Amino acid sequence: METELIKEEVVPRVLEWQISTVVKVKVETQNVKTFTLALPSWTPHRAGQHYDVRLTAPDGYQTQRSYSIASNPEQLGKIDLTVERLEDGEVSTYLHDVLIMGDQVELRGPIGGYFVWEASMGGPLLLVAGGSGIVPLMAMVRHRKAASSNVPVRLLYSSRTYDDIIYRDELDGLIKGDPGLEVFHTLTRKRPQGWKGYERRIDMQMLEEVAKPLGKKLNAYICGPTALVEGVANGLVALGIPPDQIRTERFGPTGGA
Ligand SMILES: Cc1cc2nc3c(=O)[nH]c(=O)nc-3n(C[C@H](O)[C@H](O)[C@H](O)COP(=O)(O)OP(=O)(O)OC[C@H]3O[C@@H](n4cnc5c(N)ncnc54)[C@H](O)[C@@H]3O)c2cc1C
Repeated sequence: METELIKEEVVPRVLEWQISTVVKVKVETQNVKTFTLALPSWTPHRAGQHYDVRLTAPDGYQTQRSYSIASNPEQLGKIDLTVERLEDGEVSTYLHDVLIMGDQVELRGPIGGYFVWEASMGGPLLLVAGGSGIVPLMAMVRHRKAASSNVPVRLLYSSRTYDDIIYRDELDGLIKGDPGLEVFHTLTRKRPQGWKGYERRIDMQMLEEVAKPLGKKLNAYICGPTALVEGVANGLVALGIPPDQIRTERFGPTGGA
């Protein structure tokens, strides 16, 4: 009996493709939408994990992409995927331009065991996002709240313009009455009048200002375009943060906030 149990635990779960149903579509910004998908075979995820989405054309051609789970694991039976529409993108344009409520989408997950955070892992946390890289970090922020965790979190979030800030209102609401959560925005292209946040790409000075109050024991999660992720990770190492406390996730080869 004991052997059986151990065997079950160590054999990795084979991820089956399943057909989800779109139960909600929310417009987040001019080129970002969140799709809420109901899953017939829902499994609790860990904040930071992703799903693979697979599209099949009538002629049988298939293509798949990964999308981070935006929702927290406490949301049962369904997941939120937040997708940025890339002008020449094969999958993101389909999801944006074709998918509506009631449609079915094939996916499998949750996937990933490295870029994850659970409240039991503690903190403090430094989260750094560029553009849609906010998605898995938002799952962490939402999970922290749902789990009533008071782990200190500082989120540094780089967007092109004010209107490109994904989850802006929700983040504004979350920081109210929660001294443990601080959000620092930087806008790289255009700023509204009276903007009080940062006004440039993330650099060493900005990283130091945001990271320093958390001390050297912070755990960092960085997600976004490759150049941003690499720059921030190298910057944190230069600031004396041990590399094994830094986790990274790259969304795309190019682009930038
Ligand atoms: C683990 C993981 C999680 C991800 N989570 C998300 C998510 O939550 N939300 C989200 O919107 N995307 C996410 N992505 C990116 C996503 O998987 C796709 O790469 C993206 O949607 C583009 O797919 P596409 O078919 O539309 O574009 P493609 O047809 O694959 O590419 C079109 C063009 O865009 C370039 N490109 C591809 N990806 C990007 C990118 N991310 N940024 C800029 N240029 C790019 C390509 O080089 C190409 O020139 C994630 C990627 C990974 C690996």
